[in-house]
Amino acid sequence: MHHWLRILIVLRVVKSEEEIRIKLVADKNVAPPSFGELWSSAGAEMEWVIGLRRELHRYPELMYNESMTMSKVTSVLNSLGIDYQTGWASNRKHAELAAKGFQSGEGGTGIVADIGNGNQPCVLLRADIDALPILEKSGLPFSSEFTGKSHACGHDGHAAMLLGAAALLKKRESQFNGTVRLIWQPAEEGGAGGLRMIEEGVLEKEPKPQAAFAFHQWPFLPIGEIGGRPGTQMAATDLFDIDISGIGGHAAMPHAVVDPIVAGAAIVSALQTIAARETSPLDSAVVSVTMFHAGAAYNVIPAGASIGGTIRSLTPAGLHRIRARVKEIVYTTAAAHRCNASISWSPDAYPPTSNDPHLFSWVQTVAADASITNSIDIIQPTMGGEDFAFFAQKIPSVFLALGSGDSQWPAPSDLDLPPGTTFDTTVTVHSPFFVLNELVLQRGVALHAHLALQYIHDNLNTTPLSRRNHNPAKEEF
Ligand SMILES: [Zn+2]
Ligand SMILES: [Zn+2]
Repeated sequence: MHHWLRILIVLRVVKSEEEIRIKLVADKNVAPPSFGELWSSAGAEMEWVIGLRRELHRYPELMYNESMTMSKVTSVLNSLGIDYQTGWASNRKHAELAAKGFQSGEGGTGIVADIGNGNQPCVLLRADIDALPILEKSGLPFSSEFTGKSHACGHDGHAAMLLGAAALLKKRESQFNGTVRLIWQPAEEGGAGGLRMIEEGVLEKEPKPQAAFAFHQWPFLPIGEIGGRPGTQMAATDLFDIDISGIGGHAAMPHAVVDPIVAGAAIVSALQTIAARETSPLDSAVVSVTMFHAGAAYNVIPAGASIGGTIRSLTPAGLHRIRARVKEIVYTTAAAHRCNASISWSPDAYPPTSNDPHLFSWVQTVAADASITNSIDIIQPTMGGEDFAFFAQKIPSVFLALGSGDSQWPAPSDLDLPPGTTFDTTVTVHSPFFVLNELVLQRGVALHAHLALQYIHDNLNTTPLSRRNHNPAKEEF
């Protein structure tokens, strides 16, 4: 063969491969399914998803102890043919959490599953899986089997929603060109399980996720409405324990003792001035004393007292300021009463949960029809904390509130409750009477899948938008 002819043929082959690759990418860049299509697909999975959720509800597990939950999630992933890794979120702060009164386990109960072709764009969906040390009084026939523990924050619903989304995404795996990383995260309720998974590299593992989404069922919004806001949505939080030591003795001789109860009462009162007198009325601060323990007899002044509670702010600077003032007030007030005081803080304070403004406005554009109001409604920030905040610090993220409130949610017919039975699903989370409105699950399943597929479609062949545009808070938290 003539030399130039051979070169031409080789060039032609190379060109063909390139053409094929481009064509493949182009084929896969067809518009993803509409929210309506995914809503219908989710509807077809609902009986299964609700069943999963009720099973998770029966067996609630506290932070870093979610081994049964992990088994359930992984058995479902097996049945869907989805590969995953377990062992994420080791509890390396066991002792510090125990000192704060948390019953935590060894951890390693986090799960990571990638669906897709392993390439960019990669988008992360996160569900939390832990329960609370609350005795359930919901009256549900599938109430907690573990006395003193319950899914009073609805994380059973979050875990089930993400399994439903996994099923939808797996079915469409050949139709998108990118990767969805799904994570089931332990220890949201004060244990910073999200931070542990980030420290272990869940955001650095290839392909690195460029954006993250998470939802919380939200009794404070009507069922079907979706809310959120650009910027700070949830508060920065820390927990404090104050130990006051005096000198105990006979209650009849107060002059001979140093009374830690009077010192403690003065501290509790003085702490109120941080929010009431030192914070601008246009700003936000919470200092709540929630525990005060001292003494065990009528005629004995104890040697010590302990006080516990929480501080919250919508900014890291605000949290720093409150923390500094708590210290000053506690030490000086204790000293004024001749006592000594020491303070300890949470092993991991939570930063504010902040929605990336660019990504939030993108969500408003692509997901407006997911809400019954036909818009992602702007809601007020709350002073609750949320450890999705740690993801939002690292990559552009959006945390959405999925309205689940209905003061008279009719009991599902398959529960065989007396006709006309209703549940009030506007009861706040963390209440013994909390009931998750199961109608929220279909919206969560469809919206998880919708945001993932839309994100991949809109970011194919672009420089990963996220890490490019993200300006993490300059301030050290
Ligand atoms: Zn909670
Ligand atoms: Zn929660």
